[in-house]
Amino acid sequence: MVAIDGPAGAGKSTVARQVAERLGFIRVDTGALYRAVGLIALERGVSLEDGPALGTLASGLELAFVEGPSGPRLTVNGSDREDDLRTPDVADAASKVSALPEVRAALLEAQREMGVDGGVVLEGRDIGTVVFPDAEVKVFLTASAEARARRRLGDLEQRGVESTYEDVLAAMRARDTRDSSRKHAPLKPAEDATVVDSTEMTQDEVVAHIAGLAQQS
Ligand code: C5P
Repeated sequence: MVAIDGPAGAGKSTVARQVAERLGFIRVDTGALYRAVGLIALERGVSLEDGPALGTLASGLELAFVEGPSGPRLTVNGSDREDDLRTPDVADAASKVSALPEVRAALLEAQREMGVDGGVVLEGRDIGTVVFPDAEVKVFLTASAEARARRRLGDLEQRGVESTYEDVLAAMRARDTRDSSRKHAPLKPAEDATVVDSTEMTQDEVVAHIAGLAQQS
């Protein structure tokens, strides 16, 4: 079991996908689960601060990954919602609902089930600290806020979502502060995690480093 945690835009998704390919493992993007709760809450007009209502909403969702041409895609209640999850509004909603203990509790079991058989790379914020504290390999992948904002802007541009560097950087800083200062499962490296700062590293170097850690363990 490989756990990759870290802030938004550190490159977790791409790195997790490539590490999983190298090792012949499956990849589980746990952020997609929080995004699904944010998306459905926005669609149903549920307040993003109503813990009990959002906990009930989260535990009532049927969440499953199905293999697509470029990796796993999340289905919510049987529909492929992957594209709808990747907008700035849904990212912001996900960050808000993920601070609520009711939502975290509802998604904990789903994440454990997805990883229980091993042979899996899980990426998120609290995989090494809360979801799988016994993971054999724990990585905390980070980079400077500026580097992360530049990468995130590139992703958004590629998908045709209009934004500016300043907006992306401000949203990223707001999300970082919220994710690291929340009371429940704040974003922080596990004590036994290897911290990898990718600011000055190429993606290939990061992937080789993490795959190497997995192969040594
Ligand atoms: O990784 P991604 O940007 O898709 O995650 C969306 C949001 O979900 C994050 O801002 C974070 O607040 C939350 N999250 C979390 N715990 C995880 C994964 C994501 O709190 N394991």
